Amino acid sequence: MADIRFDGKVAIVTGAGAGLGRSHALALAARGAKVVVNDLGAARDGAGASLTAAQSVVEEIRKAGGEAIADGANVTKPDEVAAMVEAAMKQWGRIDILVNNAGILRDKTFAKMDLADFRAVIDVHLMGTAICTKAVWEIMRQQNYGRVVCTSSPSGLHGIFGQANYGAAKAAMIGFMNALHLEGAKYDIRINLLSPSAKTRMTEDLGIPPEILDRMTPEAITAALLFLVSEDAPSRAIVSCAAGGYARAFVVETDGIYLPPEEQTPENIAARWDEISSTEKVHYYEASGGPTANFLAKAQAAARKE
Ligand code: NAD
Repeated sequence: MADIRFDGKVAIVTGAGAGLGRSHALALAARGAKVVVNDLGAARDGAGASLTAAQSVVEEIRKAGGEAIADGANVTKPDEVAAMVEAAMKQWGRIDILVNNAGILRDKTFAKMDLADFRAVIDVHLMGTAICTKAVWEIMRQQNYGRVVCTSSPSGLHGIFGQANYGAAKAAMIGFMNALHLEGAKYDIRINLLSPSAKTRMTEDLGIPPEILDRMTPEAITAALLFLVSEDAPSRAIVSCAAGGYARAFVVETDGIYLPPEEQTPENIAARWDEISSTEKVHYYEASGGPTANFLAKAQAAARKE
């Protein structure tokens, strides 16, 4: 298989001053991309700001012979993001790849969580993703080319205690991706989600045994990211990865049952709950009309039997 390269491509990686974003930015640059290394330079909870982290990644890229610029835009601020995109356009004239990676944590049980902490996390992860994607969307449409990755999480796909805010933001990206996949297809804009687990400051205090944590390298995640932003990337894929394991996640529905009008009661739903819940046969739908089509087919089959 030919090497995956990004020569001539321009990429923006948000939150690229540390952790996964840094690894993505270094790898994109090493494979030929010109990279905007965005980072607010915030603490894990989003407090503070400094351009130092982004600048040091840019230095690393330049030392290795690559091209990069540092940017300190806060992804929650549309005017700062617009200025970042403008700077990239001025410097390189196009934007091919957007990696929405910036993130913060404000973990607490929902009982103890202030709405301010809920909103702050939604703001950075979900609104930050929407704001950055919106800022490049028209450019990608005009170019008839774009690759966007949003960074979701096992917390959004499967749930983590104490992360109602974070999990909600990360799961919301699925809906965001589904719509943009449909809207971008005509313009060869492909959008995918990454659901990583890796050793960064976000995971250092979770009690993961060091021998496991050491295998959970950011570089293992970056391998999947590079594929998801490549020319031959899929679209609307959710890639789950950690420690060298790679899988694809899907939102599926069980085949379900059909109840004729006179039997559509909560008691019948309760009585057939196991059948409704059975994962023996599941469907992955490419569009929102899928479930209705499945149910209508069942209704028609039942009508034919009458
Ligand atoms: P990290 O804290 O090392 O990196 C996040 C970066 O985002 C930081 O450098 C921070 O300064 C920057 N940032 C925060 N708020 C910002 C803002 N408003 N504007 C611009 N930059 C901002 O964490 P990480 O583990 O590398 O996380 C990267 C992404 O991966 C996040 O979206 C995170 O939720 C996601 N993720 C990580 C893991 C994991 O196991 N590490 C698991 C699931 C999802």
